[in-house]
Amino acid sequence: SLRSEREKAAAPAVTRDGRAVRVHANIGSPADAHAAVRNGAEGVGLFRTEFLFLDRPSAPTEDEQTAAYTEAAQALDGRPVIIRTLDIGGDKPVPYLQQGQAAEANPFLGVRGIRFCLVHEDLFVTQLRALLRAAADHPVQIMFPMVAHPGELRAARTLLEKARAQLLAEGRPCGHDVPVGIMIEVPAAVALADQLAAEADFFSIGTNDLAQYVMAADRGNSAVAALSDALHPAVLRQIQQTVEAGHAAGIHVGMCGELAGAPLAVPLLAAMNLDSLSMSGPAVPRAKEIIRSIDAAALQPLVEQVLELPDAAAVRNLLQQAAGESA
Ligand code: PEP
Ligand code: MG
Repeated sequence: SLRSEREKAAAPAVTRDGRAVRVHANIGSPADAHAAVRNGAEGVGLFRTEFLFLDRPSAPTEDEQTAAYTEAAQALDGRPVIIRTLDIGGDKPVPYLQQGQAAEANPFLGVRGIRFCLVHEDLFVTQLRALLRAAADHPVQIMFPMVAHPGELRAARTLLEKARAQLLAEGRPCGHDVPVGIMIEVPAAVALADQLAAEADFFSIGTNDLAQYVMAADRGNSAVAALSDALHPAVLRQIQQTVEAGHAAGIHVGMCGELAGAPLAVPLLAAMNLDSLSMSGPAVPRAKEIIRSIDAAALQPLVEQVLELPDAAAVRNLLQQAAGESA
């Protein structure tokens, strides 16, 4: 029946040897949140809030943002929702916000993500107030994009406290003990993962940007796609380093880049001890099936082999071979 299909889809994904890997959805709107639940997502691992700011002449107000974040959280009905603060610049320009900003020769290396928010304090505090208001009644978690070093996380946390103090002074309900995490998508953040893990409540690895920055290969340029492939061992080693640093500090390490939902990569990522994988809604059911079908401990030799390979093509070949053997 449809009901039992839905229940099966919603059940947690646990490997044959008992390791739970949470499967979350990436969303860009409250409508996507409803679809995520229908697909069996156990939460939202990435709400890309920049979509609320696109295709309109001015920024959404605090009330409009609060309504959007609350609607998404309500759709998730008690499941966790990680909402990422505005990640514009790079490949996501928002003209009305970037007026007066000098054109950049290298936007991906410029004022994007958290860098942009830290120089547009009013805009950022408005969003943080909306997030804290939505967190008053829902398990909302806040995530900062493009963090390169601890100073940015500290500065963002200071503004979060400012937003909280304002709401308290106004007598408005606001979330307390809201988990604050960061995207790991810049190689500097991997190098400093131990330091960042001491100050963040969770990590979420953004393989789309991490691959382009590790390999110095534009994620949108098909001529260098073989290099910007997140299955490159150079990227996989950074993922492993991030997981180890996060776990050494006792924090949750998830992944929300495209790699997290790639069927070929899911067994490898489960074996590499990622705590959660966040992907497009439609990819959720298959990822859960794959996780339920594998023995993560038995895949350890495969992880070690993969990390010794020289390029992404070799990794793909080996993973395809391994998937064929286990099928
Ligand atoms: C990423 O970089 O992997 C990511 C999830 O963020 P975005 O694709 O929005 O840059
Ligand atoms: Mg990114």
